[in-house]
Amino acid sequence: MTYVQDGEKTKILLSAQVRSSGYRRNLKSFAISKIATRVLSALYNEFPPVVRVESTNYCNSRCIMCPHPKQTRKLATMSVDLFRKIARECSHHRIRKMHLHNFGEPLLDNSLGEKLAIARDMGINQIKFFTNGSLLYGRKLEAILNAPPSEIKISVDGATKETYEKIRVGLKFEQTRNNILNLMEEKKRRKLKTRVVITWVTLPENRHEVEAFRKFWEAKVDKIDIGREHNWAMEPVSQGLPAIHACLRPWESLTILATGEVALCCLDWDGKVILGDVNKQSISEIWKGSLLKEIRKAHIATDFSNLPLCQRCSKIL
Ligand code: SF4
Ligand code: SF4
Repeated sequence: MTYVQDGEKTKILLSAQVRSSGYRRNLKSFAISKIATRVLSALYNEFPPVVRVESTNYCNSRCIMCPHPKQTRKLATMSVDLFRKIARECSHHRIRKMHLHNFGEPLLDNSLGEKLAIARDMGINQIKFFTNGSLLYGRKLEAILNAPPSEIKISVDGATKETYEKIRVGLKFEQTRNNILNLMEEKKRRKLKTRVVITWVTLPENRHEVEAFRKFWEAKVDKIDIGREHNWAMEPVSQGLPAIHACLRPWESLTILATGEVALCCLDWDGKVILGDVNKQSISEIWKGSLLKEIRKAHIATDFSNLPLCQRCSKIL
């Protein structure tokens, strides 16, 4: 693989075979690579098990841990027609898992309810999306609850107004909290099965509030997820150490951006590695295409010399 700069984007051109230096490093990495090859080859599916669709990449927040304001790619909301095309192909392949978020706030997409209904009517019944929760009220909430997803994950990274608003810049603590409490009441009233998960990413700014957060939300929602911060594939993390295992994303999911372009993965927030475009190609073509094949080989060989994003990504270690 060779990468060339094309304007703001890094595109991959196929050329030489992926180098097999991962196999040669030493006996241990050879053994690991052999096992990884077998396991990962067995994991391969003819169609992505999870299709991630970025309904929009607009956002109404400027969270301190997120590179959203640095985005150089076009801001867009996916058209309902393009979404229908994607859902049709997923349904044809009997795909049940779809994520309706990627990089941005999905509730800024006024057609989110319509998209949920389209996917559900096509038999895609495990649909989830992440939201910052600030807009989960009124007509937007109504539209979602009329075509309820299987899971809504809401990011709340503070137990107090001071901490929350320091991290989720531009959002209001009371608004988000009341929206979630109201959502839980509506869920009960309508007897919905939608699982409501509140997520927390531990940061230096909120570390001291994690127990208070847990205590407040534990009995009020279906689940709490406490997670670690990742680095959005932006900083060198390995400090020269070899990556010890492959990341499973090239086997597990396909990330379709709001414009229809397909990005390397959900961490490729600025669409630097474009694998195809569902406006012109099928999902299947892109999934089985040479670019993803080369990327999977590079992951098996733990050779990321031609994949700068993976080289810098904290998900790989
Ligand atoms: S973390 Fe989510 S809500 Fe916050 S700025 Fe990034 S995309 Fe927006
Ligand atoms: S290592 Fe990081 S950048 Fe590479 S595919 Fe995995 S999540 Fe994406």
